[in-house]
Amino acid sequence: MTLDTPSLMLTNTLLTATLAVCLALVARRDRADGLFYWGLALTAHCAAYVLYMLRGQVSDWFSVVLANMSLVSAFALMQEGLYQFQGRKAPRWRLWLPVLALGVLFALLLGNIHARVVVLACVLCLQFAQFAVAMGQRWAETPGRGKFFVMAGIAMSALALVVRAVAVVMGQLAMGSITDSGLLQTLVFAMAAVAMILVNFGIVVMIKERADARNHTLAFMDELTGLHNRRHVLLALEQQIAWACRARQPLSLLLLDVDFFKRINDTLGHLSGDQVLRDLGAGLRSHLRACDIAGRWGGEEFIVVLPGTDAAGAATLAERLRGAVEAKCFVMPDGTALTVTVSIGLHTLYPVPVDATADSLLGLADRALYRAKALGRNRVEVA
Ligand code: GH3
Ligand code: MG
Ligand code: MG
Repeated sequence: MTLDTPSLMLTNTLLTATLAVCLALVARRDRADGLFYWGLALTAHCAAYVLYMLRGQVSDWFSVVLANMSLVSAFALMQEGLYQFQGRKAPRWRLWLPVLALGVLFALLLGNIHARVVVLACVLCLQFAQFAVAMGQRWAETPGRGKFFVMAGIAMSALALVVRAVAVVMGQLAMGSITDSGLLQTLVFAMAAVAMILVNFGIVVMIKERADARNHTLAFMDELTGLHNRRHVLLALEQQIAWACRARQPLSLLLLDVDFFKRINDTLGHLSGDQVLRDLGAGLRSHLRACDIAGRWGGEEFIVVLPGTDAAGAATLAERLRGAVEAKCFVMPDGTALTVTVSIGLHTLYPVPVDATADSLLGLADRALYRAKALGRNRVEVA
């Protein structure tokens, strides 16, 4: 079945124009998800097709050289979008050199359409390979299935171009103009349309899936320290109380509060304060077992739930944590080094009464913490 190439081109133009308008309506340059560049890529793609359709009616400098430069610019812009999505700096020269090279080669090959078909296939396949490498470098970190659609679309585009270039080289396809109709041309433009849908659907899904994954993580995690957040620790604590009661196991709880933390903010600034909290969170985690639950309770307060740990074990751990913080040298973003101390309130339930609640346990640990503060700070107090 052979379709009329100008009609196929018009369909592809309408398709890319529609997608470009949709993206223009939702993309924001400052959102760093790549959509702005993907919108620009679609616009360049659309411009290329409009110029193709004007073949014979405007100068070849527009409908051949500029049209194809627009097409390869679209794939350079797609890569810009991908790098932005991945939070990486785009290798500008590597992305835009193929566009420049194609412009020069097409200017030299204005009279030779077969050579141009081959050059275009080579340049685009080089861009697809660059794209695939960039995707591959962040493959594991990219959640979801959108990435498969994107790669399928890229592979399909490459296949269509390679088939046409091979047909030209083997003498199986004698083209007079890009607007010529024929089975292979039908195949190339139909595949280009499908590939365009796959790639653009894939990128939108990729962005959505990453946002979903981030939201899911943030529902459980404290953004600054990477520890569990208050909501999640509270849920875990309630479960652990129920389990300790049923299994007749001890359950310990530590509340840690940084001493005179306000001074750090006041003298070194909030960024330094944040750095101290991040380092404390990482340090805390490194001293705990995998089954212990560490979280940020609020401001400069941390909480640690110790399932199956009795009073003596919890006191030893609390003292070890206090000593480790006291001995640590915290290095601030501006290079300033400082030391901090923490006060710790500790409470152990054993045996765990059936009416024990997270609030009662927290209240007792909090009272112990208050006493540690009142008795001079940098110490562990047991409820
Ligand atoms: P104390 O020894 O009695 O605990 O004194 P403190 O200064 O540590 O306690 P206070 O409650 O007076 O101050 C806690 C400070 O923690 C006040 C608040 O601005 C700061 N803070 C809370 N959350 C954050 C945060 O996320 N980042 C930074 N940098 N500071 C925070
Ligand atoms: Mg506090
Ligand atoms: Mg404090």
